[in-house]
Amino acid sequence: MDNEPRTCVICGASTADKRRDAMYCSGRCRKKGQRTGVATRRAPAYAVQVMPAVVPKRQRKPSVNDIAHLVLDASSIEASFRFASTRADYRFRAMCTRMADAIGAALDQEGLR
Ligand SMILES: [Zn+2]
Repeated sequence: MDNEPRTCVICGASTADKRRDAMYCSGRCRKKGQRTGVATRRAPAYAVQVMPAVVPKRQRKPSVNDIAHLVLDASSIEASFRFASTRADYRFRAMCTRMADAIGAALDQEGLR
């Protein structure tokens, strides 16, 4: 990790002379990154690689339908954590229970199920 070459996520120029978590080589690339929705914190290299494909150039305003899908996604993630809380490696079970409980409690609190 320490020896990983650090490069600008926009143009690929070296950021070795910048802060350890610097994502951009310059103000120009930072602007471009912010415009295109690239995260402002350094993400793992694999995430940076897929981001241009999954992050739309400009996020449109979420519609009611989008929110409905997010709620369904949250329910589905809760169910997956619930499943993992009894089937996953023992080390992860307690955390999966807490995640499922937290998502479930939020859905309940918002009256979403
Ligand atoms: Zn750059």
